[in-house]
Amino acid sequence: MDITPVSSFNSLPLARRLGGLALLLALAQPAMAVNVVYDGSCANAPDRLAVANAVARATTWSNDAYNLVNNNEQALRNNPPSPYLTWFGTFEQGRYQRVRSVLDGVRFKLSSNSTLTAYCRANPAVPCNNPGYVAATNARVRGDFDVWFCNAFFALPANVGFDTQAGSVLHEMTHSIGNTEDIPGGYGPANAANLATNTPARAVDNADNYEFFVEQLYD
Ligand SMILES: [Zn+2]
Repeated sequence: MDITPVSSFNSLPLARRLGGLALLLALAQPAMAVNVVYDGSCANAPDRLAVANAVARATTWSNDAYNLVNNNEQALRNNPPSPYLTWFGTFEQGRYQRVRSVLDGVRFKLSSNSTLTAYCRANPAVPCNNPGYVAATNARVRGDFDVWFCNAFFALPANVGFDTQAGSVLHEMTHSIGNTEDIPGGYGPANAANLATNTPARAVDNADNYEFFVEQLYD
C-alpha cells in the first residue's frame, strides 16, 4: 500500500495578494458529488462535519481552479502576475497541460460517484497524533478511495489562508488522481513558491503547489 503522508507546517509569511486573473465562477451544476462514508473512527459528529465541509469545498475549489486554468491559456502565456505564476512558474506548454490535467482529474473524481471512506484521527502508517501529519491517501487510485485525517487536520482553519482543511483534501486528491508527490524541500508556502520560481518542472509535480494555488484563489 502506497501511503502518502502529508506533512503540514504553519503558514509562513508570504505576500499572498499578487493580483492577477479574475476568478471565473463556475456555473451551478446538478449536485453530483463523491459519496463520503465514515469509518467508525469518525464517531464524533464535529469530525464528520469538518470532513464533509472540507470535501464539499474542495469540490467547488477544484472546479473553479480547473476553469480558471483552462479558460486562460492565452493570458497565462504572457506570465502576468497571478497565482499560476506564483505556484507553477513561468508558462511552458507541457507544464501547463500537467497542471490542467491534475486539476481536471481532481474535479472529476470529486464530482463522481466514487466513495471516499474517511478515517478520523487514525492512520495505518504514521503516528497520527504527530502535528506534522495532516492527512494521507493512497496514490494512483481509481474509483473508491480512502483518506485518513490525522489530529492535525482538525486543528487547521477550515478554508482561510494556507494549509486549510479544504486545501488538504485537494492536496490528497492530487496524489490520488494526479500522481503528484511530496517533493522533499517542497513543503510549506515558501518552499513551494521557490520550486515554482527555480524548478517549475518539479512544482507541477508537488502536491503542496496545487494546494496553495487553490487556497490563494480563495484568500
Ligand atoms: Zn502529500
